[in-house]
Amino acid sequence: MAGTRRGFLAGSMALMGARNMSAAPAMEMPKRTLGKTGLKPTVLGFGCMTTSDASVIEQAADAGINWFDTARGYQNGNNERMVGAALKSRRDKLHITSKTPGRTKADVVAHLDTTLKELQTDHIDVWYLHSRSNPAACPDELFDAQDEAVKAGKVRFKGVSFHSGHKEMLAFLTEKKRTDVILMSYNFTMAETLDPLIEKASAAGIGMVAMKVMAGGFRSNKPGSPMHEKLSKDGTMAAALKWAVKKPFIHTSIPGIMDADQLDENFKAVCAGYKADLDGKLLAAQLERIKPLYCRMCGACTGQCPKGLPVSDIIRYVSYAEGYGEFAMARDHFKLLPEDLQEVRCGDCSHCAVACPNGVRIADRVSRAQELFA
Ligand code: SF4
Ligand code: SF4
Repeated sequence: MAGTRRGFLAGSMALMGARNMSAAPAMEMPKRTLGKTGLKPTVLGFGCMTTSDASVIEQAADAGINWFDTARGYQNGNNERMVGAALKSRRDKLHITSKTPGRTKADVVAHLDTTLKELQTDHIDVWYLHSRSNPAACPDELFDAQDEAVKAGKVRFKGVSFHSGHKEMLAFLTEKKRTDVILMSYNFTMAETLDPLIEKASAAGIGMVAMKVMAGGFRSNKPGSPMHEKLSKDGTMAAALKWAVKKPFIHTSIPGIMDADQLDENFKAVCAGYKADLDGKLLAAQLERIKPLYCRMCGACTGQCPKGLPVSDIIRYVSYAEGYGEFAMARDHFKLLPEDLQEVRCGDCSHCAVACPNGVRIADRVSRAQELFA
């Protein structure tokens, strides 16, 4: 592990050039233009959701990463505070984005003011309406609140994030023309039929940011476990990241990064680029392995559960626990479901009425959530 960390630091120092005594070749992290915003994020951004060590965030900034994504809801409400503290001394050189879960104008306005305090900044670069999987979750009053926040100088650009409902949301936001940046789940498990819609949104000037690029991680939780080490070593996780960022219409990505080794792995992956033969084989094998477990958020099962369960969301929470190793965060999400839905038990159904065309074992996964979190 130490050797890897040293490798990263050597790369970082090379990147910082001026501070490096030697004439080592620079490992330049590419940047892309984020639609009409004109911002130039590094293709590798930093999703801070699962990071509990602020020094990893500082190391990423030292290495040249300039895009940091947070939300107050992460880590029991502490994530914005930590990110703000880590990046305060270099705020003007970086882009920080955050999100609001608010459903009314008054809620989102109050939420933003707290966000700025927690992040110790007078503005954020992109402010997302968080996790909106259908147009009904984006009423005009929330877009109005975003416009007013821009006018007040608290926000530079307006965003919307979603985990599912891609087709509907991409079409809606492109048509609506009130959004500068889209943050969406996007990875190798998703049908490439989405790409034309993403390209269309990008061509309309919307900046595109990819999250969930590792498709749930699923390297068996924390460093040290055999599967974690195997998938890191054989490059499967790196291949997943490379797959997402090889698309020119994806302007930046925000994989979760928990420690210096993951930072190193991701940094090197993006600089190396996707190799169809090697990386493609690794991803095909990973797809086969995670098929029964990982929900691709295609939306095909929406509304199918007669008990009203939001199946895709619940399976995502299980992947937070089993893929990312973030049990507390996973349970926090589950506990936000309405109480009557938390009380449903799949074991009471004689058969599962929900079919997944992608092979996810829905009743097993939702039962697992009920067993772990209810
Ligand atoms: S469970 Fe299957 S059908 Fe439902 S959203 Fe996920 S991948 Fe699509
Ligand atoms: S088994 Fe679970 S997911 Fe399937 S129909 Fe019953 S309650 Fe819904």
